[in-house]
Amino acid sequence: MRAVIIDAPGKFGVGSVSDPTPQPDELLIRVEACGICGTDLHIIDGDSPLAHYPIVPGHEFAGEVVAVGSNVAQKGSFAVGSRVAVEPNIYCGQCEPCRSGHENLCLNYTALGVTLNGAIAEYVAVLAAKSYPLPDTMSLREAALIEPVSCAVHGMHSLNPKSGDTFLIVGAGTMGLLLLQLARRGGASRIAVVDVNAQRLKRAESLGATRTYTGVQQALADEPLGFNCVIDATGVAPVIEQAFLAVKRGGKFMVFGVASHEARVSLSPFRIYNDEITIVGSMAVLFSFQAALDLIASGVIDTQAMLTAAFPLADFSEALAAVRRGEGLKTQVLPNA
Ligand SMILES: [Zn+2]
Ligand SMILES: [Zn+2]
Repeated sequence: MRAVIIDAPGKFGVGSVSDPTPQPDELLIRVEACGICGTDLHIIDGDSPLAHYPIVPGHEFAGEVVAVGSNVAQKGSFAVGSRVAVEPNIYCGQCEPCRSGHENLCLNYTALGVTLNGAIAEYVAVLAAKSYPLPDTMSLREAALIEPVSCAVHGMHSLNPKSGDTFLIVGAGTMGLLLLQLARRGGASRIAVVDVNAQRLKRAESLGATRTYTGVQQALADEPLGFNCVIDATGVAPVIEQAFLAVKRGGKFMVFGVASHEARVSLSPFRIYNDEITIVGSMAVLFSFQAALDLIASGVIDTQAMLTAAFPLADFSEALAAVRRGEGLKTQVLPNA
């Protein structure tokens, strides 16, 4: 089959690899759509401590079942022709975090597209236990958004805002705008969004942002006491430092964007103590995949606003360049188009 293969950091291309065969507990999926995200850029750039090389990237995908493993066939849980989305993270179930309800922090974490071959390929083998059947009304491009939405849902579960809270979301890329939509439906009273990209701010306004700004300072000028919930969705260290300054006394600060693992920030511990600020991290997905599927199925997430360009597999380099230029929002590869 044809797939994108990253041989080593900075060395990648579209090539041929042998077709995956489903193990007894697996399904073979013909991939219809797979999103490109920041994690893929980190893997390509050699800035992911978890990645294995060579690797086929791609963890935000949906497709159609074309073969089932022997155990799956026996159970009859999935049939050829089923349309599914797949949670890409795989947990061992036996380490301390797994056994204390933190499976997403598994010490033996593996993931499709990071440590195991992923879905920017014509086919991918996946665990049936990680696969979710889709309603007929949901397109496979929409379904490939379930994974990023489930990360945002886990973020909101971790942040646990109160009804009426004011929000500042810094970064209006795909994740910032998904968090915006969830915050709005979750009872936020006012949501300010900061980005340097005017097009993204326009989209934030159409998705329900109360005010938009090109810098945190401007947002603070309008809300001098700060915001109950501040979310960094950029992963950029100097931006994180600024965003922290906009947390209201008694408020919460969520570090959601993925920073380089070598990045450091300088925050005032006196302020964290004296202003009783809660700092929250949110990593991937935890019991939030079905919730994300349901949010998309019921129209809470505006998928049309989120899905922008789509490229055939052969044009992966162009797709990647568009993502790096910050064009559009969720760029997808359609490997069997
Ligand atoms: Zn992702
Ligand atoms: Zn584990």
